[in-house]
Amino acid sequence: MIDLHTHSCASDGTVAPEKLPELAAAINLSAVALTDHDTVAGIDGFLTAAKHFPQLVAVPGVELSTNFSSKEIHIVGLFIDHRNEALLDFLAAQRAERCRRNEMIFLKLKSLGYPLAMDEPEFARFSDASSIGRPHFAAALCRRYGFADSQEVFHKLLGHNRPAYVRRKTPEPAAAIEVIHAAHGVAVWAHPVYRQRNESAFVRRFCRRFAPLGLDALECYYSLFGPPETQMLLQAAHDFNLSASGGSDFHGDHSSAQLGVGMGGLSVPDELLDTLIARKNDLFS
Ligand code: AMP
Ligand code: MN
Ligand code: MN
Ligand code: MN
Repeated sequence: MIDLHTHSCASDGTVAPEKLPELAAAINLSAVALTDHDTVAGIDGFLTAAKHFPQLVAVPGVELSTNFSSKEIHIVGLFIDHRNEALLDFLAAQRAERCRRNEMIFLKLKSLGYPLAMDEPEFARFSDASSIGRPHFAAALCRRYGFADSQEVFHKLLGHNRPAYVRRKTPEPAAAIEVIHAAHGVAVWAHPVYRQRNESAFVRRFCRRFAPLGLDALECYYSLFGPPETQMLLQAAHDFNLSASGGSDFHGDHSSAQLGVGMGGLSVPDELLDTLIARKNDLFS
């Protein structure tokens, strides 16, 4: 079993990057990728810690937010060179925009009667707002204002088109694919049917447009998918000559998805790793 989509506290997870290999080894994963949002700050610690678990393949990754057809589309880069200059420049721009968005969220929350300060414990480990994500806001709001859980906060305040929602300007998917390739990674469309209708037509439209632009894989196995979603995505991957990937989107205590097993039923086959590695080798060697 493998897990090619996880977050650490370098972005909006709660587990340290250095701790992730140990957790992965404890549940006998054969590979784990760290794919924080808009940052590779955790990768060095993650790769160093993984050296203690030689049977575990540790994959450096990143998750990039993009916009297509007014939808938020996430592209995960796997096997990236996390020191690549073009990638680092791209991430710096994304983080600057995240900062701007977060300042606006603070203002909106204040105007709605839910003021938060930069020194809330949920934000404490960050020196600026560039790595703060909505899950951190949700956790702080639960603690200070008694919301039941982060789902309630997303539903009432932070979710798309809710009163404290602020749109983040993000690049087109093609730009994310390009920068992942510049860093010698493979580009995976993450959770293609995440919290939206199980829309095979949209998946196929996206693949038709972006497979020729270098999209490499679809995330066919995911915490929130059942067999119908996985089957639909495997078929689309096959039809558009894309590889398949899979992961839990583990966020530690910021979501109920568990490492490796997701909501309990996830099991991403080992073979996907070899196919993705072959794809990388085809592209770059
Ligand atoms: P951000 O990147 O700061 O805009 O925050 C987006 C993150 O919030 C996603 O990566 C998820 O971790 C989380 N998220 C998005 N929508 C929801 C939701 N409806 N309920 C709970 N968490 C969510
Ligand atoms: Mn997240
Ligand atoms: Mn995502
Ligand atoms: Mn994710």
